[in-house]
Amino acid sequence: MPLRWFARRRPQIDESLWQSTLTQYPLAGHLSTSELGQLRNLCSEFLHRKTISGARGFEINEQVRITIAFQACLPVLKLGLAGYDDFVEIIVYPSQFRVPRRIVDEDGLVHESVEDLSGEAMDGGPIVLSWPDVQADDTNVTIHEFVHKLDLADGEADGIPALSGPRRRRWRENLHTAYEHFCDALDAIEAAIPPDVDPETEHADPWFGRLPLDPYAAVDPAEFFAVCGEAFFVTPHRLAQAYPAWYRELSEFFGQDPRNR
Ligand SMILES: [Zn+2]
Repeated sequence: MPLRWFARRRPQIDESLWQSTLTQYPLAGHLSTSELGQLRNLCSEFLHRKTISGARGFEINEQVRITIAFQACLPVLKLGLAGYDDFVEIIVYPSQFRVPRRIVDEDGLVHESVEDLSGEAMDGGPIVLSWPDVQADDTNVTIHEFVHKLDLADGEADGIPALSGPRRRRWRENLHTAYEHFCDALDAIEAAIPPDVDPETEHADPWFGRLPLDPYAAVDPAEFFAVCGEAFFVTPHRLAQAYPAWYRELSEFFGQDPRNR
């Protein structure tokens, strides 16, 4: 065998683990058999290029690696792995992890706090994930954090990926129209919550549940893109119904339409 042949070989993904991942996370039902084959190849390439390590004693096995590769590669099936080129490592915690925050306000006062996170994408650095959150079925923190990387691919966390010309202008317009509409909808919901209901508790869920997206999407346009990227694959009908033009924009970008599953 020529040496090149060995160099080009990638470790194959275990068939039964691959099938059980597709069953456990029914996010790829809109893909054809040949697209599923492409996705599986992309996952092997991803696992070859990236390092997945456990933190705080979390053990990385083949099932963890395939689950993360599957969720990370699904959004970039038609885009390829280039958007993930600025980092190599994915760090997985056995639970949510604490991150110190330091914010300087307008008056120059420093506020220090600690936040519990389910995931984080560091600009130019690793992606950090909490394993119980990776496994959740109503949200998808893995897709969320990897979409942040696609946003950051042009150097800015502004909700706009590496697009140029009229396509970039159209994206910005659709993004901002949907984002502002969502912020207004959130304001209206917050105003409708009776004073005896604490909006910070689960008692307010019936009100926030009327929104098409997690309220976290209102933080800024970058979070809006990440939350919508997640919703595009997890709850595509709901997103398309709320924001049809924005959904079409995302569908063109990802080259997929998960409503067809
Ligand atoms: Zn985020």
